[in-house]
Amino acid sequence: MIADNNATKLNITGLILAGGRGTRMGHVDKGLVLLGGAPMAQQVMQRLAPQVGAIAINANQNQQAYAALGAPVWPDDLLDYCGPLAGLQAGLRRCTTDYLVTAPCDSPFMPPDLVARLYDALQAQGADLALAVTQEVRASGKLVRQPHPVFCLLRKTLLPQLTSYLEDGGRRMDGWHGALTIAEVLFDDASAFRNINTRDELEQSQLEQSELPPSELQQSTAKLHLPPGRSLADVVGCMSDYDPDALPVRHAQRIIGDFVKPIEACEKVALRAALGRVLALDVISPICVPAHDNSAMDGYALQSSDLLPDQITRLRIVATIFAGRPSVVPVAAGQCARIMTGGVMPPECDTVIPQELVAGGSPAVDENALDIEVKPGSVQAGDNRRFRGEDLMAGAAALKKGRIVRPSDLGLLASLGIAEVAVQRRLRVAFFSTGDELRSIGEILEPGCVFDSNRYTLFGMLTRLGCDLIDMGSVRDEPQALEAALRSACENADAIITSGGVSVGAADYTKQMMAALGDVTFWKIGMRPGRPLAFGKIDSNGHSAFLFGLPGNPVAVMVSFYFFARGALLHMMGAAASETSTPLLRVRSQDAIRKKPGRTEYQRGVLTLADDGMQQVRITGSQGSGVLRSMSEANCMVVLHDEQGNVNAGDSVDIVLFDGLI
Ligand code: AMP
Ligand code: MG
Repeated sequence: MIADNNATKLNITGLILAGGRGTRMGHVDKGLVLLGGAPMAQQVMQRLAPQVGAIAINANQNQQAYAALGAPVWPDDLLDYCGPLAGLQAGLRRCTTDYLVTAPCDSPFMPPDLVARLYDALQAQGADLALAVTQEVRASGKLVRQPHPVFCLLRKTLLPQLTSYLEDGGRRMDGWHGALTIAEVLFDDASAFRNINTRDELEQSQLEQSELPPSELQQSTAKLHLPPGRSLADVVGCMSDYDPDALPVRHAQRIIGDFVKPIEACEKVALRAALGRVLALDVISPICVPAHDNSAMDGYALQSSDLLPDQITRLRIVATIFAGRPSVVPVAAGQCARIMTGGVMPPECDTVIPQELVAGGSPAVDENALDIEVKPGSVQAGDNRRFRGEDLMAGAAALKKGRIVRPSDLGLLASLGIAEVAVQRRLRVAFFSTGDELRSIGEILEPGCVFDSNRYTLFGMLTRLGCDLIDMGSVRDEPQALEAALRSACENADAIITSGGVSVGAADYTKQMMAALGDVTFWKIGMRPGRPLAFGKIDSNGHSAFLFGLPGNPVAVMVSFYFFARGALLHMMGAAASETSTPLLRVRSQDAIRKKPGRTEYQRGVLTLADDGMQQVRITGSQGSGVLRSMSEANCMVVLHDEQGNVNAGDSVDIVLFDGLI
């Protein structure tokens, strides 16, 4: 390999990216956290050093401690922790080699041939930048490509392009790639690019490493049992325009959707009990529907070869066939059979002429009629004949896995004689409210206190979704109480929903506890109501659960539930993508609505029929995020999208109906 050549190696600087705040590690500087007795950055350095000519560390705090690891420390030139690209810029400015390669300080398992392979590909393709890519199998079985833009090798000459991207406000690690020639290098071992984001992941890695003799530490990657899937940081790192301070709704939805995984457990239930449940397997039809060729009309079954093209055809009636009572009488040429809708077609016949199109024949008209007369052109060969298996062939899927069973499906399954179906086990969701000011119903409402209403709206919304609920009550803003509640929820449920305590600058412990227990991010979403949102996965005693930390305001909690948690919970329940989307309807706005572009607004609306017969929507009175009455008065939510500005009376707007037919 070219990069084995020493001169080439000497021309590459390895930059360890340790410039972050370490928010998810409980505000501890990640690169300095000990793993296997040494700081993580040192572990990364041990892996990277043999592959390059020089090493440097990009760090913005604890610079002396990093310098003690034996490499120069290069802080960002940009202020305010602008992310890994600022580190890359610092590296390109200072390195004296023609090439720079980066690796994050929390990924101590990188492949030993990372640099050589990136370099080879860059040269072979004449590219500006080479980056590592792995493949992973999604729960759906689909193979997806996973780029790792923080493991990249690039030419020093790219500094001007990077600087101009940063000056334009760009921050995404791969956001500036559009203008470059990129070489992607596929690595087989996805776990080698795993990073350690949380204390639990660290502990897990430490446990695994402590079982290995030190000599095997360097080569241990392949032997480590690494949890499948990506960390939240990986998912977030691949987002375009990622801005945790004003994250667009659709981005947050996508991150959450990428991160949660369906539970893999199913049970067999009796047909009626399947209502509202998610099918765990395709339901295969054991029979053909309809089981026989049959008539779609009340009329006469005949052989189309008897029909005369230019004169009246006279046919002799030889049998009468009722639905459910097949006839054994053969229908020969020149004959026909009176047949009712659903009656089994005689095997000799291929066509049914409706009784109102024939002259004679009908006993209602003429009791003794034995013949019918068919005018030329009144029926085409094959008319009104329903074929066996036309609706469903035996062996075909009557209903698909991931379908939420509706009343029509119960009927369909019954029509196939199916008594039991495999459904996903119910999702277990634990939920609690947080806040010292909350009082439960029945308690005395002291000054400044409010009754806890969120637990009831959450109960309603989760029940409607078909989850198994664990109602954990209201929890005080006390570290021990919050930790105990989160741990217990995590150990007993698949998902946890909390309300309150995630607001910007909230003086409480909810956020701290959530961060300490797992991989949790705290967003300010570009939306109204419901700006703060915590999302992630927490762990306790070997159990893990997805966490949705919803805001405390009573309308915000509902809106955040509907637009972030609902789809994710349905996905976890195993529901198909078609079941998780919320269809929007476009209707006329009765009044003007004030709206600032740059955030999504969910206003409570009332859909009515206008005098001209058209649907129209008006906004309910107060839209304050604490005014729960506005939800009860409304029958729909008006969705005013990110980019949308003021709405004029008469303009069309998108709405989501609260209730549908089913
Ligand atoms: P927080 O997000 O905790 O700052 O709460 C925001 C607002 O929502 C405060 O006015 C809280 O009193 C209110 N709130 C929080 N939780 C609940 C709840 N469970 N029921 C009713 N109001 C709540
Ligand atoms: Mg609170």
